[in-house]
Amino acid sequence: MATSASAQLSKQVKKVYMELPQGDKVQAMYIWIDGTGEGLRCKTRTLDSEPKSIEDLPEWNFDGSSTHQSEGSNSDMFLKPVSMFRDPFRRDPNKLVLCEVLKYNKKVAETNLRHICKQIMDMVYNEHPWFGMEQEYTLLGMDGHPFGWPSNGFPGPQGPYYCGVGSDKAYGRDIVEAHYRACLYAGVKIAGTNAEVMPAQWEFQVGPCEGIDMGDHLWVARFILHRVCEDFGIVVSFDPKPITGNWNGAGCHTNFSTKPMREEGGLKHIEEAIECLRSRHPYHIRSYDPKGGSDNARRLTGFHETSNIHEFSAGVANRGASIRIPRTVGQEQKGYFEDRRPSANCDPYAVTEALIRTCLLKETGEEPCEYKN
Ligand code: ADP
Ligand code: MN
Ligand code: MN
Ligand code: MN
Repeated sequence: MATSASAQLSKQVKKVYMELPQGDKVQAMYIWIDGTGEGLRCKTRTLDSEPKSIEDLPEWNFDGSSTHQSEGSNSDMFLKPVSMFRDPFRRDPNKLVLCEVLKYNKKVAETNLRHICKQIMDMVYNEHPWFGMEQEYTLLGMDGHPFGWPSNGFPGPQGPYYCGVGSDKAYGRDIVEAHYRACLYAGVKIAGTNAEVMPAQWEFQVGPCEGIDMGDHLWVARFILHRVCEDFGIVVSFDPKPITGNWNGAGCHTNFSTKPMREEGGLKHIEEAIECLRSRHPYHIRSYDPKGGSDNARRLTGFHETSNIHEFSAGVANRGASIRIPRTVGQEQKGYFEDRRPSANCDPYAVTEALIRTCLLKETGEEPCEYKN
């Protein structure tokens, strides 16, 4: 299988240098979402002391014309630090710093969906909205072929792979293990992992996270996965349907609750939220992948544990529905519900914003409302 040149460099030799003392300096890797709304970019700077909070991190800039984010003539873009994590690659005291992107005039960049998401979350902070997202992904070799698949064919049909164990069932577990531990070290709120239905497809869950933390933690978890895969010479794909035909696609199921839903008799509030979602299905489909629904159309066929993209449905324990109420939630009459529609390559800021707008702010139109504050 084709592998990347950098994966073949000796990690043993690199380790010698990584063990050198770094004096009193700190390396901060600034991370941002690029102009595609899917890709991540990063660059590093030296700080004179360890930052204790986000206020200790300076703003920075980058060349937006190289990231599909601006014209060459006005290419300086600003990086505004918004969330800080421990760096599992360079280790303490070094940092990963998630940033919002602002334009040369300090206006919010088009692909900075965090800014408006944060405003919406601030409007409903007293409802304590919790999210948990199940990020599915597919491991590919450098040739774009799923990792571990025969180079000129297909593995045996789906069935033994979901939560499977053994060389012929679990393809690429080293990456899953490395990513899980790196997320724990970083302080990302990873909740679990499992092997998926298609071989070389896996899932990790992040949550429950309150408000804006959902998007922040999921984006950093994705960054860590890309970075781990780079060490192994593997590529991670968040494409919602990497292999056509009788192979499951990749989604990003989004679990959602508010304080009233989690309390006694909360099922009533869950059912109310589902009725709001029923009346606004097209808006949600548009918000649930970076191409306004056309990516997800390849996945939401009504087969392979998905609902049809054109229909809204909801049910207890129903994995073929748009919205599933977990069986335990039905029994306990409180808890949360699962929106199964978001695509694996969704922007979690767009998904969580849409849920709040429809379920809590009770918006009904096909377009999001403007709020004056
Ligand atoms: P599934 O059964 O659909 O595969 P998972 O176990 O993969 O579910 O994921 C469930 C997700 O729901 C986890 O990320 C978890 O943190 C999240 N979750 C659990 N309770 C709540 C809650 N009350 N509100 C929001 N999310 C929740
Ligand atoms: Mn799951
Ligand atoms: Mn899954
Ligand atoms: Mn699920």
